[in-house]
Amino acid sequence: MDNTYTKETLCVQAGWKPGNGEARVLPIYQSTTFKYETSEQMGRLFDLEEEGYFYTRLQNPTNDCVAEKICVLEGGVAAMLTSSGQAANHYAIFNICEAGDHVILSSTVYGGTFNLIAVTMKKMGISCTIVDPDSDAETLHAAFLPNTKCVVAETIANPALVVLDIEKFAAVAHAHQVPLIVDNTFATPINCNPFRWGADIVTHSTTKYMDGHAMCVGGAIVDSGNFDWSLYPDKFPGLCRPDDSYHGVVYTERFGKKAYITKATVQLMRDLGSIQSPQNAFLLNVGLETLHLRVPRHCENALRTARFLENHERVAWVNYPGLESSKYYELAKKYMPKGTCGVISFGLKGGRDAAAGMMDRLKLAAIVTHVADVRTCVLHPASHTHRQMNEQQLKEAGVNPELIRFSVGIESAEDIIADLEQALKGC
Ligand SMILES: *Cc1c(COP(=O)(O)O)cnc(C)c1O
Repeated sequence: MDNTYTKETLCVQAGWKPGNGEARVLPIYQSTTFKYETSEQMGRLFDLEEEGYFYTRLQNPTNDCVAEKICVLEGGVAAMLTSSGQAANHYAIFNICEAGDHVILSSTVYGGTFNLIAVTMKKMGISCTIVDPDSDAETLHAAFLPNTKCVVAETIANPALVVLDIEKFAAVAHAHQVPLIVDNTFATPINCNPFRWGADIVTHSTTKYMDGHAMCVGGAIVDSGNFDWSLYPDKFPGLCRPDDSYHGVVYTERFGKKAYITKATVQLMRDLGSIQSPQNAFLLNVGLETLHLRVPRHCENALRTARFLENHERVAWVNYPGLESSKYYELAKKYMPKGTCGVISFGLKGGRDAAAGMMDRLKLAAIVTHVADVRTCVLHPASHTHRQMNEQQLKEAGVNPELIRFSVGIESAEDIIADLEQALKGC
C-alpha cells in the first residue's frame, strides 16, 4: 500500500500509522519491556512462534516504525535499526559470515568500514580481499574464493566520492551466488535505490543525511528480499539450517523473505545488543520527515560550490561526481540522475599548509569531524582523521595529503561561496 506513494510522501508519512484516537506523532516507547497476560504466550514469543514485543534489546515499536519508513524508502521487504552505521555494516556481514569465511571489499569504503572488515573481523576469522571499485568484471571475478559470502561497497564512497557501478558489482556477485551489500549513506534513498540496480542488502549510517542535523549516531539495514538464500543452503547454513538457540527454527522456512532481517534481529541483536535507543529513533524520524527537501538542496548547493571552486585560481583540483569534469560523471548520471550528495573534496595549489590556513579563516563552515548535516562543515583528513599517518602511509590509504573534505549544508549557496572566497584570499 505504501509503495503507491512517492518518496516525498513516504518521508513524511510512512512508518507510524495511528489508529483512532491515537497520537498523531510517533510515540517514544520508552520502555525496556512489554506486558503479557499469560506465561504461555510469553513462551511462544521466545520460540518465535508468535510475533510480539517483549524486550527492547530485540525490538521496540518506535524503532520498528522508523525502520519501516527506511524500508519503504529503499523499496525493501524488511529493515532494522542499529546503534550506529558501524553496527549496521558489522551485522549485515556477520549475519551471513562466520570464522573461515571470506568477504570482498571495495578499497574506497569509509575508513571505519575498512577497519571493521580488514582488521577487526579478520580477528574473528573472517578474511577479505580488497578490490578497486573501478576494476573490470574479469578482475572482480578473480577475487572470489569458494568461501566468499558477500561483496561490500558504497554507492558514493566517503570521502573518495567514487561512484559504484552497482549493476557491474551485482552481476559479478550473483555469478558467484553471493549477495551484494551496498552502503547507501551518501546517496540516500532520495537519490539512489541500489535494489533497483541489483544490490541485495542496503546499509546506512543514519547519522549522516537521514538524521541530517548531527543529533544522533545510528544505523539501518534493509533487505531487498531478492536474494534467495534457500538455493544455497551450504553457503548460508545460518539462514537455511536449524538454529539450536531457537529450538531448531530454520529462518528461510519460517520467515521467507524476512529471514535475513529476522535472524539479524533475534540472533545478532539478542547476542551483541547494538540497539538504537527509542529516543534516537524518534529524532531520526523527525529528520527523515524532511529528507526529501534537504537532499536536493544539499546537492544544489554542493554543485554551485564545486563549480565556484573549479574556477578559482588558487584551487588545484575539485572532486565532485556532479561535475562534468569528474571521472564518475557518467556513472553518477546513470545511478543518481537527480543529484549525488553534498560532499565535495578539493586541493589547493598551496598544498597541505595552505589548506590549514584556509580552513582557519572560514567563518561559516565549521571544522568538525562530521559530514552530511544541515550546517556546512570542513575537515582535513591528513591533519585530523588520518593524522597518525606519514605522507607515504597517506598515499597508500588513498588520502591525498592536501585533500580538504567540504560538506555543503543547506544554508544559502551565496553565503557558503562568499565564505570560501574570503578564506581563499589569504592562500
Ligand atoms: C559515517 C559512515 C559510517 C559509519 O557510521 P557511524 O554512524 O558513524 O557508525 C559507515 N559508512 C559510511 C559511508 C559513513 O559515512
